[in-house]
Amino acid sequence: MAELMDKIVSLSKRRGFVFPGSEIYGGFASTYDFGPLGFLLKKNIEKAWRYWNVESRTDVVEIEGAIFLHPKVWEASGHVGGFADVLVEDMVTHKRYRADHLIEEAGILENAGALKPKEIDEIIGNHHLKSPEGNQLSSAKLFNLLVKTHLGPVESDATVAYLKGESCQNIYVDYKSVQETTRRKLPFGIAQIGKAFRNEITVKNFLFRTREFEQMDMQYFVRPEDADNYYDEWKKNRDAFYTECMSFKKENIKWRQHAPDERAFYAKDAWDVQYKFGELGFQEIEGVHNRGTYDLDQHAKFSGQDLSYFDEETKKRFNPAVVECSGGFNRLFLATLFEFYKEEKERTVLAFPPRLAPYKAAVFPLLANKPQLVDKAREVYDALRKNFMIAWDDRGNIGKRYYSQDEIGTPYCITVDFDSLEKDNVTVRDRDTTTQERVAIKDLDSFLREKISMS
Ligand code: ATP
Repeated sequence: MAELMDKIVSLSKRRGFVFPGSEIYGGFASTYDFGPLGFLLKKNIEKAWRYWNVESRTDVVEIEGAIFLHPKVWEASGHVGGFADVLVEDMVTHKRYRADHLIEEAGILENAGALKPKEIDEIIGNHHLKSPEGNQLSSAKLFNLLVKTHLGPVESDATVAYLKGESCQNIYVDYKSVQETTRRKLPFGIAQIGKAFRNEITVKNFLFRTREFEQMDMQYFVRPEDADNYYDEWKKNRDAFYTECMSFKKENIKWRQHAPDERAFYAKDAWDVQYKFGELGFQEIEGVHNRGTYDLDQHAKFSGQDLSYFDEETKKRFNPAVVECSGGFNRLFLATLFEFYKEEKERTVLAFPPRLAPYKAAVFPLLANKPQLVDKAREVYDALRKNFMIAWDDRGNIGKRYYSQDEIGTPYCITVDFDSLEKDNVTVRDRDTTTQERVAIKDLDSFLREKISMS
């Protein structure tokens, strides 16, 4: 039997959620495009995230920053010097591998991410670790993950620029402008959904690890002495985001604390939120970090600008500390597919809550060759389309149409039949229970509205 991941990849492609990038050219190293349904699901996930993190609160604002940032930003953040994975090379095929992944996959250590090249060499030697092809491995070397490019007509050291290695840097760089223009007092947060690029060595597991992805950040600025309390608060908030806002089952979410040698030297504490991706097991989807004042200290130092905050209450001036919640959109999207994918006797269902579903309903004429039914169904379709994303289907028989909508997660199927012509009502079939009820056409709008808001 195919593994869950294979089924999700195949459904995503077949139904237009996610296509392999540049496919007519044979694809391009784990790049993906969101198709029409994937795009709609993406927007709905973003909407849920935005409601939870920004709109429902009074202390968080959202920005959208540029992909190119001044190269010094990446020196200040430590990415130019230290944003590196440790690699080993197969001495025969010259393929490179992430050393920590090889060590973890061989079952030698559970978390090998913090190992230094020297320690890795020792482990490889002691355990006679070979490459996946069974060949000898080279000694370990650091490999920087920033994606480098040149801006402007000349390629020289002076024109080097990097694509954002992590999206949140705009937030630190814009912190002062946001604080001043919004007249915020601590504590307050800045949220952003933005692209990030990493020259990952091993790209794998569909959307899970790619070189281009999106991050969903919420960076919360606090008085340094308040950071621990807010850190605890945000950890609870993130748990609730996944279980309440995303409606993920509690048992599919787990928290993992970083060991002291795994986290950045300045971080006081760091936890990952993990999601259970079927056969891949629990994997990180978000990092929640208690970062201290490092980010603003560094940018103040490298830019020469004063980024300090004057506290009216204490009459003290200081750089605020940061509590960071940095989630990966692509992993959240993938987790959403895993969470709501169901196989039943005769059908496959994406049982999304209506508010996340790409289409809120589908409208069918019972028979496609009866113009009165088609016209009436069109009327219903056109009226609902004003307020919701609605699908139309007049192919095949009703049963097939239901299954086709179940597979893309449409919560309600509305059928216009002969009774509809006389009574101005329709059959509404529920995706999850497969039961049907008659609803007056004039009530359909409020029916859908209520179901979406309750979900
Ligand atoms: P990993 O250990 O899996 O490489 P990370 O700890 O480097 O991830 P962070 O730098 O904390 O990740 O980034 C925050 C979030 O961004 C991660 O929790 C993840 O959801 C997402 N992310 C990071 N790298 C990738 C990637 N290559 N592809 C897709 N999403 C990613």
